[in-house]
Amino acid sequence: MPRTKIIATIGPACDEPETLRALIDAGVSVARLNASHTSRRDLERRFSAVRATAQAAHKHVAVMLDLGGPKLRVGEVVPGTVLVAGDRFELVTSECVGDSRHACVTYPHLQADVPDGARLLIDDGRIELTVTGRRDDALVTEVGIGGPLGSHKGVNVPGVRLGLDAITEKDREDLAWGIGVGVDFVAQSFVRSATDVLRLRALMGERPVPIVAKIEKHEAVAAIDEIIAVADAVMVARGDLGVETATEQVPVVQRQIVGACRAAGRPVIIATQMLESMTVSTRPTRAEASDVANAIFDEVDAVMLSGETAVGEHPVEAAATMARIATVAEASLADRAAAAPTPGGRDDVTRAVSTAVSELAWDLELAAIVTATQSGATAFAVAAHRPRTPIVAVTPEAAVARRLAIVWGVTALVVEQHGTIDEMLAYSVAAIKAAGFALPGQMVALTGGVAVGVPGTTNLVQVTRV
Ligand code: PGA
Ligand code: MN
Repeated sequence: MPRTKIIATIGPACDEPETLRALIDAGVSVARLNASHTSRRDLERRFSAVRATAQAAHKHVAVMLDLGGPKLRVGEVVPGTVLVAGDRFELVTSECVGDSRHACVTYPHLQADVPDGARLLIDDGRIELTVTGRRDDALVTEVGIGGPLGSHKGVNVPGVRLGLDAITEKDREDLAWGIGVGVDFVAQSFVRSATDVLRLRALMGERPVPIVAKIEKHEAVAAIDEIIAVADAVMVARGDLGVETATEQVPVVQRQIVGACRAAGRPVIIATQMLESMTVSTRPTRAEASDVANAIFDEVDAVMLSGETAVGEHPVEAAATMARIATVAEASLADRAAAAPTPGGRDDVTRAVSTAVSELAWDLELAAIVTATQSGATAFAVAAHRPRTPIVAVTPEAAVARRLAIVWGVTALVVEQHGTIDEMLAYSVAAIKAAGFALPGQMVALTGGVAVGVPGTTNLVQVTRV
């Protein structure tokens, strides 16, 4: 398995139990459920299926609930609707069934927010409209680029700041459901600022779920450092990013965000169209293979599949292809001393121990770095160094094991809660031996905290022969 994690969007194409199992066997460690395209019944069904299949496969697979966020969409349109370039087309803010002359968009301030001359992009930019005027309950536009228009297609208004609430009523309902069933991550769409992330977290109550901030708006790109500081992970959501900014901006922004996340030690995910052609084809294009490999060369934490697995014809092949590209790309990376500095203060013992253990692993050619962890924090800190040595997180918490499913290079093993340091070390060695991470006679480094069971107290390194 590659050390880069693979996230797969679960949709109708994965509804056969064998398909889900094959995805997990192919290396998928995070299952993404997309709330904007999925009914509650299907969310529930797929959530249970992922949990059951992961358990049968003895894998710690995380579930990421992706909230739809404040996205404008057209309503119902009659089947076969086609927009023609040069025609007048109205976006009506009251309920209606659309056709080639008009469609409804349920956002009451559309006319107020969007000025004349603004460009509206529908369906990822396949259709382009220019605003020419307004009526009481409609925005009047001229079709620039026409084409077929389906129901519920997304509408982007590049460069215009809409007054949409960052967290919609549907998001709140979906979030309540997700927290209730116990999803492992919540992805937040169309984040514009750190405040948006903090507001979502404030809605979560006592036990907040880690938030993946999706960067897909120009406002978020401008505020990237403050978003990285408050989010638990960041996703470069290239689909909407490519319409909210411009296609040619996507590679530049990706590079900038990955650099900023790596410097901050924040998990970063590259998403959308990674193996797009495999939605219908059994092989990827060479350009797609290169795109995936380049993300791996940048040492991102995870790469994501969207439609390829959710609605594609070859979901398992897509995941297997991604795993193969990642494995080969990783193998080509040169070995190097691992201990690049990571952020954190002089009084941050976990950080300093993680640096030391990464250096030890390189110097002594250890078989594994074993982090006995209560919260996962030590494993996160070690992974930030991207050591070539396998990182094994040993934890009594299955939920922590699943949260590590998003982090580069970490394999999690769940063990019994230990009472003393000696017990903790003994459990850890037994667990890695059983899982095949170290052969008898090989050396490993173990880290842990003297206050066993208390998160954030890692202050010990032991090198030991298995
Ligand atoms: P989406 O997000 O699939 O929820 O739209 C990803 C993206 O925009 O790239
Ligand atoms: Mn998006």
